[in-house]
Amino acid sequence: MFFVWSAEIAPCPCCQSRLQVIGSRKRTWIQSSGNKVKIVIRRLRCQNCRKIHHELPNFLVPYRRHEAQVIEDAVVDKADPACVEESTIRRWRQWFNAFAPYAAGCLESMAHRFHWTVESSSAHSQTALHRIGRIVGHERGWLARIVRPLVNLHLWIHTRSAF
Ligand SMILES: [Zn+2]
Repeated sequence: MFFVWSAEIAPCPCCQSRLQVIGSRKRTWIQSSGNKVKIVIRRLRCQNCRKIHHELPNFLVPYRRHEAQVIEDAVVDKADPACVEESTIRRWRQWFNAFAPYAAGCLESMAHRFHWTVESSSAHSQTALHRIGRIVGHERGWLARIVRPLVNLHLWIHTRSAF
């Protein structure tokens, strides 16, 4: 089964100009139940700044097939996801240990640059996860909430080459 995520095209996140569809690719989305669904991700180019963007549904993380929520719950040890191999969970945790401080630093500089409201810090030694939570909120769903701002500014680094 294939489906296109959205019929409407959002404006360019960098300059708000019109995006043009220049291609697409298929991706597997593994739902929390373990079900696999094929989706089509469109490749878009801004007609003004020429940047390339990929349409990614909010519940997915770039380069990963499992839902953001499943990955989030696994990396913070909240739940052992069903239907996910232990080696995959181990890989997610390794990735997150390296990625979290990087993401926290990106979000902090974005918060500064765009004048976001940030929870004031009291603790001296904060974990990377806590620093992320200060900016996007500590409640469940924070992984999905950090994807969009990082991707939009082209700060989401491919983990295999970066870490
Ligand atoms: Zn643009």
